[in-house]
Amino acid sequence: MKLRIVYDNEAKGSLKSDWGFSCLIEADNSKILFDTGASGDILSYNMKQLELKRESIDAIALSHEHWDHVGGLDAVLHPEVEVYLPRSFSSELKKRIAKQVAKVIEVSGPGDITPGVHTTGELGLMTKEQSLVLETEGGVVVLTGCAHPGLKNIVDAATYFGDVYCVIGGFHGFDKLELLRGIKKIIPCHCTARKKEIMAMYPEKVEWCGAGAVIEL
Ligand SMILES: [Zn+2]
Ligand SMILES: [Zn+2]
Repeated sequence: MKLRIVYDNEAKGSLKSDWGFSCLIEADNSKILFDTGASGDILSYNMKQLELKRESIDAIALSHEHWDHVGGLDAVLHPEVEVYLPRSFSSELKKRIAKQVAKVIEVSGPGDITPGVHTTGELGLMTKEQSLVLETEGGVVVLTGCAHPGLKNIVDAATYFGDVYCVIGGFHGFDKLELLRGIKKIIPCHCTARKKEIMAMYPEKVEWCGAGAVIEL
């Protein structure tokens, strides 16, 4: 399985950086886009740089209904795609998406998206959010949007699918850095407030993240 970061607060090469997050999951026989960044224009631009066509995306999973994760949606919707979103999304947005895609799947509890790609289900009380859990040989990989429900709660929920060996994504205000000690690979992106401290504390297991990064799992 391979991940490509399409949209992030940082970028490399010819890709543009912007506040937001989007990551492409290339699984065995499918491509899943996790979140869509803030701007459709920047998302389209970065996808073009990566030679990624919207029609090649089989499924889109949206972590939570914040503008920096759903803002680029219209640039990637197409009639064949399936969209997985937390059940708590507003009915306006659900309706708008449903008109443009093959199917909208409302997520509540843990479940499967494709073989080897799961959702934690919507977690959290204030801002509800789903994270993805990817099966790899080394254990499961947790992919977060902003981690508003708390990284620890998300990792705990992900253990339903196996032992967590890697966490990737926005960790927001997560500050109990010692809780990452048991995790073998840490890839903090997007809104992670303590990114520099995480890198300093775990230099041997942190990887750089930004638009253009390719992560082999
Ligand atoms: Zn965010
Ligand atoms: Zn957010």
